[in-house]
Amino acid sequence: MSPGLSPFSGSYREAREKFIAAAHMVDASISVIPHPLRGPLGEQLAIDTAWIGPPDARTVLLCISGVHGAEGYAGSAAQISWLTHHQKNPLPADVAVLLVHGANPWGFAHGLRGTEDNVDINRNWLDHDNPHPANPLYAEIHDALCPQDLSPRSIDAMLDAGGRFVQQHGQWALEDAISRGQFTHPDGYHFGGKSPAWSTSQLAQIVQTRLRKARHVAYVDFHSGPVGDGETIFLCFSPEGSAAHARAGQWWGADALKPKTVEQQWGSPRPTRHGIVFWGIEDLLKSMSDDIRQIDIAGAVVEFCSASPRANTRYVMRVPMLERWMRFVGGLDCDEAPAYLAEIRENYAPRRASWEAKVARAAIDVLDRAIKGAAKWSQEG
Ligand SMILES: [Zn+2]
Repeated sequence: MSPGLSPFSGSYREAREKFIAAAHMVDASISVIPHPLRGPLGEQLAIDTAWIGPPDARTVLLCISGVHGAEGYAGSAAQISWLTHHQKNPLPADVAVLLVHGANPWGFAHGLRGTEDNVDINRNWLDHDNPHPANPLYAEIHDALCPQDLSPRSIDAMLDAGGRFVQQHGQWALEDAISRGQFTHPDGYHFGGKSPAWSTSQLAQIVQTRLRKARHVAYVDFHSGPVGDGETIFLCFSPEGSAAHARAGQWWGADALKPKTVEQQWGSPRPTRHGIVFWGIEDLLKSMSDDIRQIDIAGAVVEFCSASPRANTRYVMRVPMLERWMRFVGGLDCDEAPAYLAEIRENYAPRRASWEAKVARAAIDVLDRAIKGAAKWSQEG
């Protein structure tokens, strides 16, 4: 990618092209993992990976974008910004970077958050042979949250039902029931799937083949969507007090990782979580370790704040509802689709020059700090 060209893209295809061009510029080793389906314009869908640095580095920064498809616009630009910056800023010794672009390419290309099966990959990485985590309150609210039409009357009815639920169970219970993940309603919100999604299997494959020689894995998984204007939120999924949590705190500041900080930025206490990618990779790395060689992981999900403040409660569920309605009622090619998709895009990656510049700068800072930390980690042994 030539300097001066924006790292942000208007389409999935453009994002891929820019990523691969930027990776070529730094002599990355690139691989393409094709998805079995095509995109809405007939384009190829794939997870693209770029390895930068020594193939046998002891410490590898694993940086993923697009776990939630439409959030890939921010994550892709973040990776491309770093690649462009890296041209003049070589890596420290014994550190490599593995960029995984568009982990959920179907969602990315369609401008939607979930996969081709409406699966939330960040709830999908668990053992599907075991009973799935229960979420009984979700079943109570599912019908009310899935209206057949999006008319003001339907939205009012939904808000009434939400109000009754909150009176009975509390505000946090409502948010938790919706977003913690559920395994009972394939046409609902944050569906965790019944088996590993294509994307989950491919991520596992990437970890198994590319990280088997590593000793330390620094982890950055770029997302977007919280309300704000380009600020970053660090969601660290290592337990507080653990060595991994402390390490991530050394890179990005212990304060940034504190639940109090995150709650303030997020706007509410964090929901319960199951099946997230970080834990899946952590478990997999553990299973690849032995007495002689342990593979440790530390890092965080990094959220770029992107959504406009909601004018009132009417809009709180709007973006996920638009996606769900198109998938299961209106169809992805319905008359409303172009306007709805533009609204979803604006929510996850607004086309505002000031926002884009802020995200590009923040991405370089986040990754550079992790790389500096990775260099120290390598020296520790
Ligand atoms: Zn996300």
